Amino acid sequence: MERTSTTYQIDINKKIQRIIAFCASLIVVYNIVFLFIDNDQSFGHLLVLGIAAIANIILLNRNRKIELIQFNATLYIIINSFLFLPYTFYNGQGFNGFLPYFAIISCGLPLFIQQNKKGITSSVITATIFSIMAIFYLFFKADGLIKNNIYQCVSFIVAMGFMIVFSRLFTLLYTSSLRKLKEIATFDNLTKVKNRRYMIDEVLIPREALVNKIGGRFSFALMDIDNFKNINDEFGHKYGDYTLQAIGAALKCMVREIDEVARFGGDEFMILFDNIGVKETREIANRIRETISELVIEGGIKATVSIGVVTIVKGHTSGYLRMADLCLIQAKEEGRNKVISYEIDFDKKRGNKYKSSKDNIDWNTNKLYKKGSNEMTY
Ligand code: GH3
Ligand code: MG
Repeated sequence: MERTSTTYQIDINKKIQRIIAFCASLIVVYNIVFLFIDNDQSFGHLLVLGIAAIANIILLNRNRKIELIQFNATLYIIINSFLFLPYTFYNGQGFNGFLPYFAIISCGLPLFIQQNKKGITSSVITATIFSIMAIFYLFFKADGLIKNNIYQCVSFIVAMGFMIVFSRLFTLLYTSSLRKLKEIATFDNLTKVKNRRYMIDEVLIPREALVNKIGGRFSFALMDIDNFKNINDEFGHKYGDYTLQAIGAALKCMVREIDEVARFGGDEFMILFDNIGVKETREIANRIRETISELVIEGGIKATVSIGVVTIVKGHTSGYLRMADLCLIQAKEEGRNKVISYEIDFDKKRGNKYKSSKDNIDWNTNKLYKKGSNEMTY
């Protein structure tokens, strides 16, 4: 499996990084433009604009590292919302300039970055600092406590309140949609076990990487319902679905918490048995096979399953899905309701080689041979 593992969180973090980079770039442009255009600014003011521009450029540079996302987001808010913005608001055009609009948008930003209660607190703190800044401006900088100035100040504070409420509603909607989307991307709709995408991208690929890096092992089983077409034909698709659901539920009950069960598609299931070898896995798979054969499913349906089992160790982390499939085909060929496994033969002279329990699958060529002949069957 060559595809790299992707998680939603990494995707979301990358997007947040881009938003921070975009906002920081805007502030850098704003600062640079004003450094050159606004000749009336005092030296102190120009210094703050320059420092803010440099800080944001440094931030843009650090922003590439995904693991610094929360730190960078906090740094962005501290630099721009708590230092640069109040300073330039107070010393610049006040309510008549561009900054009040920027401040209103900025107080929603912490909520977008941290979509939880911490985000609400950060947004409220930001809005409070801006409100104090506005009140200071009204009393000490504005041209008197006249009706128009008071009206501007109150509107500014109320607008920030609205922004926080809208941001909260939006993030609630966003997080609930994300949760639903995550559920769809994780579970198989019919059987409620995990789906193929989740199993491959979020379980098997990271597990392979871990085994290759630090050693250890895990076993993998591919399971297919025997003659499932007959169940569909005899009882109808609805009862076929009940069978898939019953087998999925039974599988979930029969594995440990650290194992994973997923539907591969159709009537095939995948199971990851963590940290056990082929012998133990074969025993568990046989127990699963027996238990399923004893189940009486709705409508009096009885079903059996065939299972292919492979153990994965360091240095042998590719091609096992195909090997499990080959074992499964062999189990079908040998009359179904069977477990066929594949194990590593640690023979130093021959090197580590996978050896089938029936000894007719060549791990190196990934080919299945019929017993006693060289005829390839898959
Ligand atoms: P074998 O023992 O060789 O596996 O025989 P089989 O009849 O089970 O053959 P196969 O595994 O190829 O058949 C899978 C069947 O599963 C074909 C398809 O109609 C049926 N199927 C696939 N998905 C669903 C589903 O979601 N619900 C139902 N009811 N049937 C499904
Ligand atoms: Mg089948």
